[in-house]
Amino acid sequence: MGFRIVMLGAPGAGKGTQAVRMAQELKVPHISTGDIFRKNLKDGTPLGLKVQGYLNSGGLVPDELTCEIVADRLTWDDCTAGYILDGFPRSIPQAEMLTAFLAKRGEAIDAAINIDVPDSEIVDRLSARRSDPETGAIYNLKFSPPPPEVAGRLIQREDDKAETVLNRLLTYHETTEPIISYYDDLGVLKNVSGANATPDSVFAEVLDVLKTL
Ligand code: AMP
Repeated sequence: MGFRIVMLGAPGAGKGTQAVRMAQELKVPHISTGDIFRKNLKDGTPLGLKVQGYLNSGGLVPDELTCEIVADRLTWDDCTAGYILDGFPRSIPQAEMLTAFLAKRGEAIDAAINIDVPDSEIVDRLSARRSDPETGAIYNLKFSPPPPEVAGRLIQREDDKAETVLNRLLTYHETTEPIISYYDDLGVLKNVSGANATPDSVFAEVLDVLKTL
């Protein structure tokens, strides 16, 4: 068994925070499609220009384009021992493309870890989420407040603003949530409860899951 892991959960469920910790623990790369798109947007690359409208509205970048980017990333040398995929797949076609891509290489996803958080809590969390532009660290003004020395430079993601959050949640329920059953059918789904939980307590649950792999 390797550590080819997919993180599932609504936006703001804590996937990114847990994915970073898991990647450190397992010494495998953390691959976030959202981070890849935001970096390209910031750098004004041709990919950035293509995805700008989707990111700003909270909609999904087309499956084919997203899968191309991920398929390329998974062939890098640092992926041999595994990886933590964060924010991908986000639709059934993406999940199917990932399965097919891996099957051709004799590989498969070892675990899909779903962090379950109710919608009411998600809206609260996203509106309080802030990131540090210098280190990339993610904080939550309510649940994991930043140290005072960085508080002044924190920024809010454009798509964490109220008007976009509801659209992202709708997209999540319509298009992304069905992949929970997809991975359950493949026998690799692991559920972790993220409701009313701190990042540390969720990580403790995640570590228990990793021990079973
Ligand atoms: P995230 O940081 O994972 O919340 O992603 C931010 C935005 O990037 C999303 O709202 C989408 O517009 C886009 N995005 C990230 N991952 C994907 C994906 N797997 N498929 C399509 N769009 C994506």
